[in-house]
Amino acid sequence: MADDCPPLGYPDGWNQLAYVNNVVTSMIDWLGAKIVASGSDTFNAFVNEVVTIAMQSSSTAGVNIQTLSNHPGGGFLERNSTVVREYNGGNLGYWPGTSADMLGGSGANVSTGIYNYQLSNGVIRNAVFTLLHELLHAYDINVLGITPLPGGNEARENEINSQITALMNNPAVKNKFESILQKYPARGLIIAGQGVTE
Ligand SMILES: [Zn+2]
Repeated sequence: MADDCPPLGYPDGWNQLAYVNNVVTSMIDWLGAKIVASGSDTFNAFVNEVVTIAMQSSSTAGVNIQTLSNHPGGGFLERNSTVVREYNGGNLGYWPGTSADMLGGSGANVSTGIYNYQLSNGVIRNAVFTLLHELLHAYDINVLGITPLPGGNEARENEINSQITALMNNPAVKNKFESILQKYPARGLIIAGQGVTE
């Protein structure tokens, strides 16, 4: 899917407008097809907006997400894209890309949603924070070739969260993230290990 972009150059009479509309509605080649959102239109739009804003920041997290989106592929285990799947129950988070349900050739398979997420220590994180967190795990996997341990590496978890906090408080993007959280209200609360509650 991700690499099904038509070659450049079209015969005369080719319907350019239809081509553009197709790209917009299917999300194909979105951000160079290196980060692909797979879910409802609302979810895909949410991911699109968060990633676009994150890449406007020169903070470490913003630069790493930009690197992830531009990653040429062929890296660790030939993973060449990151699929952000809409959360539909079960575990929230990422897992290394070996499952058969991934879009073709995807790398880190991220599952997240427009929910608040309560960690086992009681801390509640919003949907933007959670998406950015999972994308930085995808950065570790796809760009650095590091597969995190099951249950996470505490030092890296803390580093990722510090970087996201810095990004979300960056004056260049802070208000934009807050606008997104208002535009896409949380659909509920996911409690670690307990699935979804409303
Ligand atoms: Zn994590």
